[in-house]
Amino acid sequence: MSLENHIVKEIRYQLNRHLATHADAMTCQCSQCKEDVVALAANHLPPRYATSPRGRILVALELQNKQLQLDILKGLLKAIDQVNRRPQHDPNRIIV
Ligand SMILES: [Zn+2]
Repeated sequence: MSLENHIVKEIRYQLNRHLATHADAMTCQCSQCKEDVVALAANHLPPRYATSPRGRILVALELQNKQLQLDILKGLLKAIDQVNRRPQHDPNRIIV
């Protein structure tokens, strides 16, 4: 099993949820810009890893924490703003 950072999965989930209700939040929603937002937000949040089923349950519980959810949302909004101002994608390349 590969080791994954659960905070990244949560950020990705929150981003998609945010975009579902705020369709115009991001100037560009290509995969590069979305991944840039996830990476920028993840860089400011502590990683969460787990290797056992028990560890995964504990991480899942921690991710429900209201303060952490708020921190993730704050990080996401800041990252979206950064990417909107300076998108790193190549405008000549179509990424879907
Ligand atoms: Zn883009």
